[in-house]
Amino acid sequence: MTDDNCIFCKIAGGEIPSTTLYEDNEFRVILDLGPASRGHALILPKKHFADVCQLDGATAAKVLPLGAKIGAAMKETLGCAGFNLVQNNGKAAGQTVFHFHMHVIPRYEDGPSIVSWIPGETTSEELAEVAETIKKGL
Ligand code: 5GP
Ligand code: ZN
Repeated sequence: MTDDNCIFCKIAGGEIPSTTLYEDNEFRVILDLGPASRGHALILPKKHFADVCQLDGATAAKVLPLGAKIGAAMKETLGCAGFNLVQNNGKAAGQTVFHFHMHVIPRYEDGPSIVSWIPGETTSEELAEVAETIKKGL
């Protein structure tokens, strides 16, 4: 369940050193080497899954509570006002390491915008058409 060519498998397994915040049998939580803000962390499962579509149910069920636990600890200790849980899937979505991971990004009052988009415009007809399209894949 690990991939010999995957850097996050090696980091999660302790083969490559990292600044670790938390570890249990299934996860390692590390600090990101290119932090978006002070404390930016990555939740890494020890098993290799390329992205959220590959994640097994047992691992998936634990990721969100772990993200909440890490984020709450950041609010308590770093004094951030909030945090983002961010998870990229696919190159087009900004994924650069193809081992599932969830970012936990502390957000500070008056800090820069980190995760944002410009709201677009749509119509009720377009919303209905898009919904019908997506439903075909469910
Ligand atoms: P993605 O863009 O795939 O969602 O996020 C990958 C993240 O991993 C980036 O924020 C990047 O800074 C971080 N990263 C890449 N390689 C390493 C590494 O070797 N160690 C650590 N701690 N972070 C890494
Ligand atoms: Zn991996």
